[in-house]
Amino acid sequence: VLPILLHQFVYRRVTPTALPTFLLVGPSGAGKTALLTLTERKTVAPTHTSTSPLTIETLLPDGFTPSSSQFRSPGDPAYERARRFLLVDTPGHGKLRHFATAQLVNPTHVRGIVFVVDAASIAEEAGLTEAAEYLHDVLLALQKRYTGARTSKGPKEIPVLIAANKLDLFTALPPHLVGRALEKAVSEVRKSRAKGLKDSGVGMGMGGEDDGVDEEREWLGEGGEGNFEFRHMEEVGTGVVVKGGNVLGGEGTDVQAWYEWIAEQL
Ligand code: GDP
Repeated sequence: VLPILLHQFVYRRVTPTALPTFLLVGPSGAGKTALLTLTERKTVAPTHTSTSPLTIETLLPDGFTPSSSQFRSPGDPAYERARRFLLVDTPGHGKLRHFATAQLVNPTHVRGIVFVVDAASIAEEAGLTEAAEYLHDVLLALQKRYTGARTSKGPKEIPVLIAANKLDLFTALPPHLVGRALEKAVSEVRKSRAKGLKDSGVGMGMGGEDDGVDEEREWLGEGGEGNFEFRHMEEVGTGVVVKGGNVLGGEGTDVQAWYEWIAEQL
């Protein structure tokens, strides 16, 4: 018992920031850093391309109630504590994405993932494909984490918010179409990844017989011919919702729906 207590004591001491953590992931240029900056400074500042993860400790803004404190009032210490969280901006650039996936391997305090996409670039094939590939990999990492968990209870659920950003642009797709386009494109990624695995011979046993084990592990969502749908992720502890907004824009900022989603997870 003593070593355990000691461990907890030391652990708490050296990690005062064991706060609920939300990861910002998504393609480069989607608006992750703009959202982080807005959350930190309550104002928008020009951003530069991010090359390393950046963490801020912040408070849920006034007017949003952490779901764990629904029956408490602002000013109550427990209420105020529940408003605190960490926001981690991860680089969206392809070569730097291992930062984000590394976080997913051991996401002890990860309470949710905010996958930011540029709703205007989703309307174009290149932008859609890039976002879908990244989203596929994030969802597959979450699925593996869930199915690979040793405890019978399974790990804590990690929900995903797809933040359809830049709705101020007139070329932006509305959020429900962003969701549908991504589901379709993720289905394509899933298909081509499976084909790649088959061609490379992964899943073939020593004797050359196909044991199929690895292929199944690498398949996102339900098997079969149908399209991938976000609701498939519920079975592996990941609810996926799409909500629109814009960090910048002539009409001002609209990030209400995203903060509401964060409040629901706190
Ligand atoms: P990141 O690579 O995901 O961190 O993206 P950034 O936060 O650096 O944003 C990329 C570009 O998109 C920047 O020029 C931002 O000013 C711009 N941007 C971010 N959010 C919005 C938005 O809601 N609307 C518009 N029109 N531009 C935005």
